Amino acid sequence: MTPTLIRNADWVIAWDEIAGHHVYRRNLDIAFADGTIIFVGRNYPGVADRIIDGGDRLVLPGLINIHSHPQHEPLYRGVREEHGLRNMHMTGLYERSQAFSAPDDEARAASAEFAYCELLLSGVTSLVDISPAWDGWLDLFAKSGMRGFLAPGYASARWRLANDFDLQYAWDEPRGREGLGAALALIDGAARHPSRRLSGVVSPMQIDTCTADLLRDSRDAARDRGLPFTVHIAQSVAEVREMIRRHGKTPIQWAHEIGILGPETILGHALFLDAHSWIRWWTETDLRLISETGGSVAHCPTPFARYGQIMENFGDYLRAGVNIGLGTDTAPHNLVEEMRKAAVLARIAARDIATVTASDLLYAATVGGAKALMRDDLGRVATGKKADLVLVDLATPQMIPPRDPLRSFIYHAADRAVHDVFVDGQQVVDSGKVLTLDQAAAGERLVRAQQRMFDAAPRRDYRGRNAEEIVPLSLPIAD
Ligand SMILES: [Zn+2]
Repeated sequence: MTPTLIRNADWVIAWDEIAGHHVYRRNLDIAFADGTIIFVGRNYPGVADRIIDGGDRLVLPGLINIHSHPQHEPLYRGVREEHGLRNMHMTGLYERSQAFSAPDDEARAASAEFAYCELLLSGVTSLVDISPAWDGWLDLFAKSGMRGFLAPGYASARWRLANDFDLQYAWDEPRGREGLGAALALIDGAARHPSRRLSGVVSPMQIDTCTADLLRDSRDAARDRGLPFTVHIAQSVAEVREMIRRHGKTPIQWAHEIGILGPETILGHALFLDAHSWIRWWTETDLRLISETGGSVAHCPTPFARYGQIMENFGDYLRAGVNIGLGTDTAPHNLVEEMRKAAVLARIAARDIATVTASDLLYAATVGGAKALMRDDLGRVATGKKADLVLVDLATPQMIPPRDPLRSFIYHAADRAVHDVFVDGQQVVDSGKVLTLDQAAAGERLVRAQQRMFDAAPRRDYRGRNAEEIVPLSLPIAD
């Protein structure tokens, strides 16, 4: 196959392998063929069957999102942003997931297609998609053109609320076992998919809803396959208190005790560590345990920030030697906005502008995510790496002046400046339009799906309330 050439790109964020970090380079040619970058330098000497003018362009590595739930989070638009229980240390997770759930696979397909479009339009080229398995998932993901790390979720228990202050658990261990078997079948099917862009992550859903045996067997299954393993952990005060009640240990300490922390482990959130100001548990060992075992943290600032909660703090995790990748746990599925929030919130937590930099944020959104996924061929613009590339338009008003285009992109323009996106050398976004999916049509189906979700709420809610009673509109509707 003859190559595609990006000729004379104005700015490039290239990977310096020896230094181990990204660098700016100016006026470069980038050529790729068969999904791989074959040239990064000046004056590409070969032929190309397509030439893209790199004038007014910043080329950066495709962003890597290591935590997301596309199959339901778009259904929560207008619901989730200000929903939380003050009697549960602000989290709305348990009440919301009980009352509102994707009602059917048609709803999941609409929600996922809508989210995949948002992800592509913000420059995400690799996605960890955590969801209970649903019919059509694999095919829709393959159609998106994104690089997929499908993470079919399962658990030994479900959360159950009978009021707004007491988190209870309904245990069904055989269901967890069946879930693991079905998840592994789906993951093995993804690996065989002809697109060669799909893979898997073994994903028992939460540290508090899985037995120790299920967690250990899941981690072993991941290790046997050379795949990552992920679990939600330390994501609410209620969960930390529950794990201390059960085991006399924080969730991180218990995960370490049962042997599931390690280099292949991605900890979903790990926000409420023992030293966190909302926990203040006496041990203060959690961060060191994550660091010493070589695990990664999937940091998703938005959902927590909306509850009034922040990681304490991103910069301290980095300096402790913890690998951090970023994710979009909720809508909007805009990883650049997560980068911006991660920076600002870390500085508020640290009261220190220097605690994280734009360079740290880009590293987390590219190389950090790639490391978590055990893929050193992703997240880097360099010869021999995968041709997952984002072309940012420097002529977008929010990018001007482009003195430091990474700062313009993170702090000002975000997805508005994403012009073209390539995954595995295939173009998936052209001039700000997704080529592979139909967001407008998915949006129409999403509106109807949200109504079906609301229709089911009174049967699911612990007080039989309807959606308007659980989450009132932000303003009254006047005549
Ligand atoms: Zn999550």
